[in-house]
Amino acid sequence: MRLRRARRAAAAGWRTPAGRRALAGRATLAGATAVLFALWLAAGSPPSLRGPGTGTRGGVLFSVPLEAKAVALTFDDGPSENLTPAVLDLLKRYSARATFFPIGRELERHPELARRALEEGHEIGCHTYSHVYLGGRGEARLKAELDRCDEVFPRTLGIRPDLFRFPGLSYSDALVRLVSGRGYAVVSCSLDSYDWRIKDARQLARRVTSLVRPGDIVLMHDGDWLDRNRQLEALDLILKTLQQQGYEFLTVSELVRRGLGEALERGSGE
Ligand SMILES: [Zn+2]
Repeated sequence: MRLRRARRAAAAGWRTPAGRRALAGRATLAGATAVLFALWLAAGSPPSLRGPGTGTRGGVLFSVPLEAKAVALTFDDGPSENLTPAVLDLLKRYSARATFFPIGRELERHPELARRALEEGHEIGCHTYSHVYLGGRGEARLKAELDRCDEVFPRTLGIRPDLFRFPGLSYSDALVRLVSGRGYAVVSCSLDSYDWRIKDARQLARRVTSLVRPGDIVLMHDGDWLDRNRQLEALDLILKTLQQQGYEFLTVSELVRRGLGEALERGSGE
């Protein structure tokens, strides 16, 4: 059911300016990418698009300019009893750190899973309380979601996250300003795994491992609605393949700091 909803939201995104910005990244490319994306949705074949953007634009972080082989894997929509413990086990096996964007509502149901993630060195961001697609909604709804998260995250985890990701990557400039004003860094992604769309684990893993670049923020999910076996097989393949290629797996904040370190080093070398 959620898969259908996600698909509908992705398709609907192209019909609204905010959705296009979120999904295609740039207004200048929106026309061409919209056509590509629509063709892909219709054909059911793997898309050539990597994700909604790169670098930082309009107050949103998509990826970090980086020479070192490091990426940030991110998991939205958890915590899920079905998936999150196994995802954490896999990350541990590969000494990988990641960033989780749990939904406040699910966090209240399984706070122990998010606490385990924190204890094992992962980062927690906020993905709203009820996973509402905000692009077409008013600021009042977003404020209510943030207020609720301000209560739930500190109560369950003892922390107030620094990072925020919009459900469905659906937002407007005004909503980004609102979230930033509440002290969050808004994170999108530069490589969407399409794990909500691709049914075959090997195809899913291949999409990520063939398109990935240093500094990427990779969007994945650990919600209840996903196919557990496919997610875990794909994640195992992604971690194994990229580690063999020399990639390191960092949290989003670590990736940002690594990028800053490289920039400072380049500056001092001049
Ligand atoms: Zn989500």
